[in-house]
Amino acid sequence: MMNLSQKVEELEHLTIKKLKEKIKNIKKELPREEQNIITFSKNFTLSLSNYCQNQCGYCFYNQTIPKENNEQNIVLIKKDKINELIQTAVRYGCTEALLMSGEAPDNFKVVQEELNKRNYRDFFQFVRNLGESLLDVNLLPHTNIGVLSFAQLKSLKEFNASMGLMIESTCESLSNLGGVHENSPGKTPENRIKHITNAGKLKIPFTTGLLLGIGEKFQDRVKDLLLIKELHHKYGHIQEVIIQNFTEKIGIHYRPNKPISIEETLKTAGIAKFILGNDIAIQVPPNLIQNYEKEALKMGIDDFGGISPFTLDYINPKHAWPKIDFLDKICESNGYKLMERLPIYKKYVNKKGFCSEKIKKTIKNINHNVGSKTNS
Ligand code: SF4
Repeated sequence: MMNLSQKVEELEHLTIKKLKEKIKNIKKELPREEQNIITFSKNFTLSLSNYCQNQCGYCFYNQTIPKENNEQNIVLIKKDKINELIQTAVRYGCTEALLMSGEAPDNFKVVQEELNKRNYRDFFQFVRNLGESLLDVNLLPHTNIGVLSFAQLKSLKEFNASMGLMIESTCESLSNLGGVHENSPGKTPENRIKHITNAGKLKIPFTTGLLLGIGEKFQDRVKDLLLIKELHHKYGHIQEVIIQNFTEKIGIHYRPNKPISIEETLKTAGIAKFILGNDIAIQVPPNLIQNYEKEALKMGIDDFGGISPFTLDYINPKHAWPKIDFLDKICESNGYKLMERLPIYKKYVNKKGFCSEKIKKTIKNINHNVGSKTNS
């Protein structure tokens, strides 16, 4: 058995040609009809609050970052805005509602006051209630609001088809003086690993991923992929891993000497496939790898993630989502078939303990309404 440094050395010296050959062989282990399927989820984002207890060096979202076009920071999303977004999502036939926010926004007085005004005890209660009301209109919540406790995860599971938290990187030096996580207490590796472990113990279908180009090294990426593999081996709950590249933005603190390239991002996606195999889907956000979609397919990716027909990628607002038709054509011309999925992967719907009765009921309604979703 290879130790970590031997593994890293093996992977570092793997040529792209060899990596692609290995990926091809891994894909061949899938049933024939699944080998060329690429999935995506039609979603929309509810950005609940920009307020965040962390100050990540690369952040473009939290309350300290000046917003463009007279856009204000959201203290707490207004009821009217929620209703407007829901109506548009239903019109577009979205099935996933991505609930995102800064971490622990109710640590800020202004957020807590707004919650009290609207009769919520805390932000968590607000999120739980919102999840419940989304299910009532056949939208499946996927919540990613930062690090939560075991009890909070347990309570949200009932109203979430799946949940997510990027591991980003467990590289310790990122939390040191001058590192991107220097002022981010929620981003310590222990906190992130604990959250993902608790989600496993609670049987929550889970999405995690690496954020590349934030000061980590190749070795850290391999170490984190092996860690994800170990957690999945133990709990069987990781449905997908996102390989996301940092993109430069005006107004943020972090300025890397050498920004991460799309080539390096896609090589990491290939390495993720090689390490994680077919049991976990590998996703790259298509808006961050524009013009490299064909290469991404060759690197064995399985999924293009949540694509919104009408809301922004709030983390990378300058990178518009591609049209689904456009991705469809790219897939088709390269011998792949693009298929819509739900935020909970098909194999988790009937996996014992992974899907609440409320979620199952909503999936049934969605399938009844559309008749052609991949989950059944
Ligand atoms: S946790 Fe997220 S929202 Fe908060 S500062 Fe970091 S990147 Fe920004």
